[in-house]
Amino acid sequence: MAKLSLICPCYNEAENLSAFCEHIFVVFADIIKTYPQSAFECIFINDGSTDSTLSMLCALQNMKSDLQNNAFLLPPPPAECEIKIIDFSRNFGKESAIYAGLQASSGDCVALIDVDLQDPPSMLKDMFAKWHSKKADVIYARRISRTGEGFIRAKLSQCFYMLSNLISAVRLESGVRDFRLMDRQVVNALLKMSEYHRFSKAMFEWVGFKRVGLAYEYIPRTQGSSGWSFWKLFKYAIEGFVSFSTMPLRIAFVLGLVMSVLSLGYGCYAIISTLIFHNAVAGWTSLVAWIAFLGGVQLIILGIIGEYIARIYEQVKSRPIYIEKQPRDTKD
Ligand code: UDP
Ligand code: MG
Repeated sequence: MAKLSLICPCYNEAENLSAFCEHIFVVFADIIKTYPQSAFECIFINDGSTDSTLSMLCALQNMKSDLQNNAFLLPPPPAECEIKIIDFSRNFGKESAIYAGLQASSGDCVALIDVDLQDPPSMLKDMFAKWHSKKADVIYARRISRTGEGFIRAKLSQCFYMLSNLISAVRLESGVRDFRLMDRQVVNALLKMSEYHRFSKAMFEWVGFKRVGLAYEYIPRTQGSSGWSFWKLFKYAIEGFVSFSTMPLRIAFVLGLVMSVLSLGYGCYAIISTLIFHNAVAGWTSLVAWIAFLGGVQLIILGIIGEYIARIYEQVKSRPIYIEKQPRDTKD
């Protein structure tokens, strides 16, 4: 018997939940036809949603015992599927939701999927088949085109991958999604990485194992809005550069070295020019420009060092990656 755990992070997904469950339960039924010994668990992580996501999830969970309780017109989960809910005390972000889901999972294989239907649920069957036939330990989805995505976002994303692959030892492939199915061994390896600042994209690569990619066309979001603002994406990109490489520090060192050599050369030239050619005052403008430039370089380098120190600071505080909220008794 093979059990599949499906991790579904939800942040204000009330508009998508019903359609998502409908698709997923059809896929589960399809998998059971081919692999009758299968069982499933859906782990929904409510990441501090402010809409009715949590009420819908509770209704879905209760439907297993009480089919009348269906105010949200949700499709009933199949008998082979258990519904688990993890309710965060606030919005901790998708990375924390993924970690919580991995910790709560008990399946022989674990899949991650977005609830907004941008990750086609029908691919899960292929992923499961590949895992079942032991063809791979990780089966991930890879977007083959960026059509439908904004021009600026697509270009910035391209630059991110180019720069990241230039400085980091972990190679990231453009278009690879978090949508994937992983063997239990891979999940256990990921759970051993308990760092506070999580950059799953690179962690999935770093742990290794045998991987296979399945290509698909971009699907735009039809309901709700993406939780990614430009600022969140910028912070995510910095996370990517800093989490898996110390190369920026090395670049800062090399830059400092080059600057020192250049300044030394210029200093010698200035001394000779003053002593021999008596050009003491000339060059004031260039000097000011040079000092301002060096000041800028120093601030950038301080910023880079700061990014690493901030991460050490966050890590040594050992704060939890997420906080789960338990329902309180409604007794008077
Ligand atoms: N999500 C989350 N916490 C957040 C933002 C997003 O759990 O702070 C979930 C969201 O509900 C969805 C998935 O992560 O299931 C992907 O989010 P989104 O569609 O905003 O990302 P995109 O598809 O734009 O990368
Ligand atoms: Mg999305």
